[in-house]
Amino acid sequence: MDRYALIGHPVEHSKSPLIHATFARQTRQELNYQPLLAPLDGFSDTVRMFRAEGGRGANITVPFKIEACSLATRLTERAKLAGAVNTLTFINGDIVGDNTDGIGLVRDLLVNLACPLAGRHVLLLGAGGAARGALFPLFQTKPVSLTIANRTVERAQELRAAFAPHAGQTAFTAGSFKDLGGWEFDVVINATSASLEKQALPLPNNIFAPDAFVYDMMYGAGNTPFLAWAQAAGVTRLSDGLGMLVEQAAESFALWRGVRPKTTLVLNSLRRKLASKG
Ligand code: NDP
Repeated sequence: MDRYALIGHPVEHSKSPLIHATFARQTRQELNYQPLLAPLDGFSDTVRMFRAEGGRGANITVPFKIEACSLATRLTERAKLAGAVNTLTFINGDIVGDNTDGIGLVRDLLVNLACPLAGRHVLLLGAGGAARGALFPLFQTKPVSLTIANRTVERAQELRAAFAPHAGQTAFTAGSFKDLGGWEFDVVINATSASLEKQALPLPNNIFAPDAFVYDMMYGAGNTPFLAWAQAAGVTRLSDGLGMLVEQAAESFALWRGVRPKTTLVLNSLRRKLASKG
């Protein structure tokens, strides 16, 4: 049976094995997908061993996405731009690195949540790996403007410099949270890990255009702290990042198996499971 793995540290609470097992059943693919804990100083050895034992590919999670980028012998354009890899495919002698996080986010917004991005004013909060992975796929949807804001403003500015050549017709600006006063956005995406730390972002609460859509890449049983804050500020269209998780998995599955699984049933079932734990 073809073998795949999720390699990270920690990995035991990941939903990816369940998602990929469901995709495999749905598309009648014979495969095995297991979590694989790598020691913090042993990522590349873990990948090499898994490959030597017949592994066909792997998803990579925290904290190894950047290391996976260096380990890959070939990178897709979007992985090169993201500077991070969440999907490895072992093809003949090559380790091919790709990044499906950004396209997962965009598919969740456009397809699952019916939130158009073309012609909209988009705000991306954060300048870490997730924000970096999202930028290129976001530009491809042709928003009229994309603003990136981060606690450490220099990191937002670095991203602006790196991605400006890929912005196309989109007006692309970078700044700090306090620079956002007086601006309104149609779509606000939180790619910071502040919700993980249960911390509020120091944002003005009048940054939302009428009918704005607010998205938090983090997910959980109920509203994340960021979504709760947006709701208190009057926003009614909200989503967490569970759909992004499922969509990035579907994209990896399609890369490996050549068939794209349907995501709606998996997403609904995960949502019910999360809610029952809440
Ligand atoms: P990184 O560690 O690479 O980046 C963290 C970012 O959050 C930085 O911009 C950092 O700012 C900012 N930040 C952290 N704490 C705070 C705070 N208290 N206040 C303000 N800003 C803060 O993380 P990732 O980019 O990998 O992940 C970001 C989020 O996205 C996480 O919640 C993660 O779970 C989620 N995610 C979800 C995915 C999904 O499939 N749904 C996939 C990937 C990520 P600074 O630069 O100033 O330190």
